[in-house]
Amino acid sequence: MEIIGLTKQELSSALADMGEKSFRTKQIWQWLYGQGATSFDEMSNLSKDLRSKLAEKFTLTRPKIVTEQISSDKTHKWLLEFADGQRIETVFIPEDDSGAVCISTQVGCAVGCRFCHTGSQKITRNLTAGEIISQFMLVKDIYKEWPSASQQNRLVSNIVIMGMGEPLHNIDNVIKALNIATDQDGLAVSKRRITLSTSGIVPNMARVARETGVKLAVSLHAPNNEKRSQIMPINNRYPIEEILTACQEYQKIVTSRYITFEYLMLDHFNDNIQDAQELITLMKKYKIGAKFNLIPFNPWPGCAYKPSSNNRVHTFSRELEKAGFAAPIRTARGQDILAACGQLKSKKQ
Ligand code: SAH
Ligand code: SF4
Repeated sequence: MEIIGLTKQELSSALADMGEKSFRTKQIWQWLYGQGATSFDEMSNLSKDLRSKLAEKFTLTRPKIVTEQISSDKTHKWLLEFADGQRIETVFIPEDDSGAVCISTQVGCAVGCRFCHTGSQKITRNLTAGEIISQFMLVKDIYKEWPSASQQNRLVSNIVIMGMGEPLHNIDNVIKALNIATDQDGLAVSKRRITLSTSGIVPNMARVARETGVKLAVSLHAPNNEKRSQIMPINNRYPIEEILTACQEYQKIVTSRYITFEYLMLDHFNDNIQDAQELITLMKKYKIGAKFNLIPFNPWPGCAYKPSSNNRVHTFSRELEKAGFAAPIRTARGQDILAACGQLKSKKQ
């Protein structure tokens, strides 16, 4: 059994089965998630006997690095491989005094958005909770950010669930991984530093609010159902009205936080002034504390859409801002290494 990814509860009952006292759970937890131990031998406050019992019962692994690339802007990308040979990508995006790890949750994705390269790869399998959280831990290994005790001066500080896959199609494992991330005895990542992005799997949104309290981002990408369904077939199942109602519910539980609406800028498709006006009307109707994140589209071979011109993106942004919404344009990071969302794992296939 892999020890990384067990909830505290699961670890505690596994230890109880071995006849160990309950205080061992916290000790081992701190080694794994506070100190970043990569072997049981390092756990110096456990007896030799217990350490070897643990090594017999559990594995303690990190994903294997297949390749890595560092962009001219320091964006760092890894192709990672798990025990069964399946591969995903993880990206680290450093800022001046913080940085976000962009984590994958599935191998491929079943949602099939027309603009997304991951979506064109179909779904192979869900990642386990351990495979999800170990992406973050591996980046901490590489940037020597253990122990995790101090909140200040962390470079590997934030988590964005925006890599490959739809997190709400793997909700149990994603919730487990996030609860490990926020646990104060270990990684202690603040909920405010975690953002989960979804294409809008309505029935699972409330669970994220109740069971994690992290920030929510919704991939909206269009101001009405007609356009959204053209680029996101999932919209036929969960249309905009249902998503926005779920967002209202989310904000009742996770109060005083904005929901970010991601909006991919597709040339002459969804980037007209009328589209911006329609968006404004929609947001005012639902009274959601919203901000937008305008995303430059990263084209890939075979994709039907083109990126909007800078001019059109800026005009669109200004229109939203005039109406009182924050609408920053996301800077394209790591473009020279194809580290942008929706392009992950594209080269190797
Ligand atoms: N499945 C989730 C999270 C992963 S995708 C979701 O869709 O929200 C993360 C973000 O990357 C989404 O907003 C998605 O729409 C965006 N994205 C997908 N393909 C892209 C592309 N080719 N260029 C830019 N962004 C893209
Ligand atoms: Fe899946 Fe998100 Fe890509 Fe859509 S944009 S196919 S939901 S990963």
